[in-house]
Formats: sequence, structure tokens, C-alpha cells
Amino acid sequence: MIRVRFAPSPTGNLHIGGARTALFNWLLAQSKAGKFILRIEDTDVSRSKTEYIDEILNSLEWLGFKWDEIYYQSKRFDIYKEYAQKVLKEGKAYIEKSEAGKEAIIFKVIPQKMKIVDLIHGEIEFDTSVIKDQVLIKSDGTPTYNFACVVDDALMNITHIVRGDDHISNTPKQIMLYEALGLPLPEFAHLPLILAKGGGRMSKRKGATAITEYRQMGYLPQALVNFLMLLGWAPGENREIIDIKDAIKLFDIKSVNKTAAVMDMDKLDWINNQYLKNEDPQKLTDAVIPMLIEKKYIDKDNFDRDYVVSLVKLFQARITVLNDFADWADFFFMKDVTIDPEAQQKYLAQDLSKEFKLFIDRLDKLEKFDIAEIEASFRELVAELNIQAKVLIHPIRVALTGKTVGPGLFEVMHYLGKERTKERLMKWVKKGGS
Ligand code: GLU
Repeated sequence: MIRVRFAPSPTGNLHIGGARTALFNWLLAQSKAGKFILRIEDTDVSRSKTEYIDEILNSLEWLGFKWDEIYYQSKRFDIYKEYAQKVLKEGKAYIEKSEAGKEAIIFKVIPQKMKIVDLIHGEIEFDTSVIKDQVLIKSDGTPTYNFACVVDDALMNITHIVRGDDHISNTPKQIMLYEALGLPLPEFAHLPLILAKGGGRMSKRKGATAITEYRQMGYLPQALVNFLMLLGWAPGENREIIDIKDAIKLFDIKSVNKTAAVMDMDKLDWINNQYLKNEDPQKLTDAVIPMLIEKKYIDKDNFDRDYVVSLVKLFQARITVLNDFADWADFFFMKDVTIDPEAQQKYLAQDLSKEFKLFIDRLDKLEKFDIAEIEASFRELVAELNIQAKVLIHPIRVALTGKTVGPGLFEVMHYLGKERTKERLMKWVKKGGS
């Protein structure tokens, strides 16, 4: 049975790169009915923090990568010491004493040439004569990454090591340790680097942001997972939007690209919008309600959920991230609309008192105030005034929403309701204007 592991060090948050590694491990396990193991590599006691562990676990859960087993290296120090003693007894390691008399256990590197067949890169050759003797247990009693990693991967029966390219240089060191311990080698698959769009390393601005931050910005987990998947793998037939169930069926670690993947935030936005469009409005409503409460747009104990659902339906195909909703739909929740000054200058500088007043009078007479009725009355008015629709559409939109873009204007009026629509238009009717 395939057993893979994701082995984060809790010295920072879970970022895009780590999440992509977790995903590819998880996908490999799912695609082969194997097990996905989570191993917290918290051997560096001073740099590991419980808040990072919590953050990593929460992010993995949010992304939907359920683990079958979890281990903490900090609870396994005795095991590493035992294995180091074994290597020492067999004469494959030696003790080095520090000035203070503390003892470290050092592995003797045997110069050799070795070759592995990486599942992604194919053959990779290593020459260990350039590698220095390796510390197994430091003088403070803690194990080094390479040693703890090999002991655990072996004891946890890990069959495939899937990790970032940045670990390729560790692989020969680890292979030597497997050999010294007389343990069978797993398969290796090193995932391509992730570069920022336009080249170079990822920076915060170029998307090297913690998964939690994407969550806070209003990206959907399914969208982020879809995006991560495309960082090095393609489901084929130029498909960009792929359901996780299909991905599990199609995933093949051998078809992951060798070349670096590019982190394109515009693509993430596009993917997120695709998922938002197709998401159940009720679910999106659940997600936006806390945001609306926080902004005091709705009262937590007394609001009309169906109304929020209608508005979510109105906006879900237009927004990029869920957080856009509260910004874009603000005018539905605020008593007074905040008008963008530029939009006002552009569309409300001229006096439209007469046109607005005529429109208000028409709206007043409508009975149902449904979308069709509103639209019909508007069309009649522009026909009567013999003007183009756009002459009024933009000014009305700005007066009602404060913005130049948004959902269909007649839908906006319908959901604002007759009174608020009239009130907001009336503000632009000058006294004495007719
Ligand atoms: N703790 C290591 C890291 O976070 C794990 C590397 C590995 O997967 O072997 O980079």
C-alpha cells in the first residue's frame, strides 16, 4: 500500500509551496487508495511554535486534505537516539565532543557515486565525495532534519517521498543513512519550484502568502486547491477547472512537470470567480453573513436571510473573492449611499432633475415593483423623452449605488425597493425642478 507523508516544520505558516506539496502527496494517496500521513517536524524546539502547528493543521483541514495519521517528531527523540546509537555501535558514526564536553553523533560519509530514478526528474546522479560528514544528533541531544526524516520515513513505512526540489541536495545524504541503517529505500519525487510571475522568487506581493490569508481574503478552498494542482500538473485537454474527484482519478505523479511552475495571481482570481459562479448561494450566504455583521450591515439577531441570498445570487458571478461582496453590495445595506466622487463628477454633474422626477413619478405608480415592470417603465420614459437609455442609465446607477459598475440596474432597483430607490433619486432633484 502506498504511504506518503507531508512533513512541515512549524517554524512558519503554511504557504503556497507547502500546500502544493501537501496536495500532491494527498492526491497520490487518494489516487492509489493509500494513506496520507502528517508529520510535524518540530525538532527545532526554539523555532517551532504551537501557533504555527495550529495554523498548519487548520489550513490543511480547510483545504480538505484529511490525514490518516499524525506524528510529532518532538515526541520521538528517544527513537532517534536509539537509532544513532545503533549506527555508532556499528562503527558508521563517531562522537565529537564540544568544548563544554557535550557529545554530538556524526555520520561518516563514504565517498561514492549513486543514482536514483526520481519519479518526476528521471535519473539523478550524486557524488557523495563532496558531502561532509553528517551530524545525526546534535550536542544538545536533538536530531538533525536528515536523520530524523530517514528514521521516521522508514519506521512509518513511507513508500514515496514527494517534496520540493529544494530538497534534492538532501536526498543523497538520506540515501546514505538508509543504507547505513539497512533500511529499504522509498521512491522519490521532487516537485518543481514555484516562481513568481515575471520570474524571480515569490514575494508577499507576488503571492507568497500564507494559506490563512487567502482564506481571509475570501478565496474558496476548492478554488485554491484547483489552482495549486495546476502548479506543476495538468489534467489534460487544456482543462483548467477540475473537480477534485476527477483530479484524483487522473492524477499521476509521473506526469508532474520537471520545469518550474509559475504563480499567477490573475489565474487564481479567474479560477476563484469560476467557483464562486457555480457555488451554492446558500453556502456563500453562510460565508458572507459574518462579514456583513462585522461591517454592521446587518444585525446579527435580526436580518432577512432570504434577502441576503438574493443579493448573493446577484453578485456571485461578478466578484473575484468573497470579500468583494460586502464592498460591492454595500449600497444595499447602508442607509445612505456613499458616492464615488469621480463617478459623481462624470455622471451627476449635469442637472437631471426633470428626468429623475419623471422617472420617480412612474416608479411610484408601479404595483409589483418587479424587474420587468421597472424595466418597462424606464423604457417608456426614454422613448417619451426621445433620449438614449444610457443617458439615464449611468446617472441613475451612480445615484443608487454610488458606483459606475454593478449588477443589472433594474435588478438593483427591485432589490433596493421602491422607497429607497425613490429616495436616492430624489436627492438629485433640485428644489423647484420639474
Ligand atoms: N520539514 C521539511 C520541510 O518542511 C520536510 C522536508 C521533507 O519533506 O523531507 O521542508
